[in-house]
Amino acid sequence: MGNSLLLVNIGQLLTLRAASAEPGPHRGPALRDLGIIHDGAVLCLGGKIVSVGQTEDALRDPWLKSHRKSVTEIDCAGKVVLPGFVDSHTHPVFVGPRLVDFEKRIEGASYTEIAAAGGGIRSSLEAVRQTAKSVLASKVLATLQKMAALGSTTVEAKSGYGLTVASELKSLEAIQDAASRWPGTVVSTLLGAHVVPEEFQGCSQKYVEIVCTEMIPRAARRKLAQFVDVFCDRGAFTAEETEQVFAAAEKHGLSVRGHMGQLSETGLQPFLRFHPASFDHMDHVNDSDIPQLAKHDTVATLVPGANYFLGLKEYPNARRLIDAGVPVALATDYNPGTSPTISMPMAMSLACTHMKMAPAEAVTASTINGAWALRVAEHKGSIEPAKDADLAVFAVEDYREIPYWFGANHCAMTILNGVVAPSP
Ligand SMILES: [Zn+2]
Repeated sequence: MGNSLLLVNIGQLLTLRAASAEPGPHRGPALRDLGIIHDGAVLCLGGKIVSVGQTEDALRDPWLKSHRKSVTEIDCAGKVVLPGFVDSHTHPVFVGPRLVDFEKRIEGASYTEIAAAGGGIRSSLEAVRQTAKSVLASKVLATLQKMAALGSTTVEAKSGYGLTVASELKSLEAIQDAASRWPGTVVSTLLGAHVVPEEFQGCSQKYVEIVCTEMIPRAARRKLAQFVDVFCDRGAFTAEETEQVFAAAEKHGLSVRGHMGQLSETGLQPFLRFHPASFDHMDHVNDSDIPQLAKHDTVATLVPGANYFLGLKEYPNARRLIDAGVPVALATDYNPGTSPTISMPMAMSLACTHMKMAPAEAVTASTINGAWALRVAEHKGSIEPAKDADLAVFAVEDYREIPYWFGANHCAMTILNGVVAPSP
C-alpha cells in the first residue's frame, strides 16, 4: 500500500475542485471558488489522494478504523492546507547570479547598455557551456528543494542558457537528473530559442534551423522535454521564426508554450493553431486577441516577479484578462536576470497588490490553473480523490494570509507525491 498519511483538523482545506462540470482551466468568477472545507481531513495512500472531507467523517471511515495503526496521522491544528503550488515557468539551469546587471540597472542603465557591458542573458551562456552536467544538476536539485520548502510541488524547468546543441541537451539532462532525485514533479521545456547567440548575430535564420533540425528532434527522441518554448519579442525571435519553431515541435510530437508580449506586442492569433499550453508574461496584449484567448484553453501565465525585480511601474493587466474569461496562471519566472525568486507566495502577493487579483484568484492561478498550463491537471492542482498527493500546509488561519504576509515563509510542511519533504 506504500506510505499512508492522514491529515486532520485542517482549519481551511482549499480543495480547488471544479465547481462546474465543464472541464478546462478555471475562468472568470470561478477563479474565486476555492471549494473550502472547514475542519477538513485528507487521506493519502501510496502517493495518491483517496478521500477528502471533514475530520469527523474521516475518523468514522471503516477502512481507517481498522488500519489506523499503519497510517501516519498529521494533526494540522487549524492550519490551512491547499494543493501544492504548480510553478509553471522557471529557468533554473544557470550557474551564478547576475550582480553586475543588478547594480547597473539600479544606476539606471537600459537593457541594451547592460548587454553592451557584458550582461544580460548572454552573460549566463559562457558559464553554462563550461559547467559539468553534474554541477548543473546539483544546482537545479537545490533549487527544487528550496521551492518545495515554500510550498511548490510541481515545477516547470526550462533550458535556455546554453544555446548550442550540446549545452541545451546538457541542460535538459541536468533537469532530468535533478528531477529523478526530487520527490516532486518536474515538467521540462526546451528553450533553445531564448535569444540569438552572439555567433549568429545577423543570421538568426541559421540558428532557428539548428533549433528546428537538431535541438528539437534530439530532445524529442531522447524524451528530454515535454514542451518547446520560444522567446518571441523585440531583440529575440520574430513571429515567423516562432511559427517555424512551433511547427518543428509539433512535427516531433512536443507541445508548445511561448514567452509573449513581455517587451512589445505580438499578434497571438497565428500561434493558436499550434494549441499552445500557455502564453507567458503578456504585459502587452492586443485588445483583439483577448476574445480569441477566452475561447481557448491556452493559459495566460503572468509572472509579476519580473516586473517587480526590473522596477517597472506597469504590470500585466490581469483584471482585463480575467474579466474577459481568459484563464490566468501565476508563476515565479525564476531566472538570474529578471526574476531571481523561487517563491510562489511572493508571486501571489505581487498579483494581489500590483495586478489587483483577489487572494482567492491568486490561489487558483497558482494551483489548478498552473496545472492546466502544464497539461498535468488530470493529476495535479486540486485536492480530489485519485489525484497525486501534493499538498502544502501553511501555518496561518486564513488562506488570505499567504499573500498578505509577504517576504516571510509560512509554509510549515510540503507533501510531494505522498512524501513529506524534510524541513529546510
Ligand atoms: Zn521566462
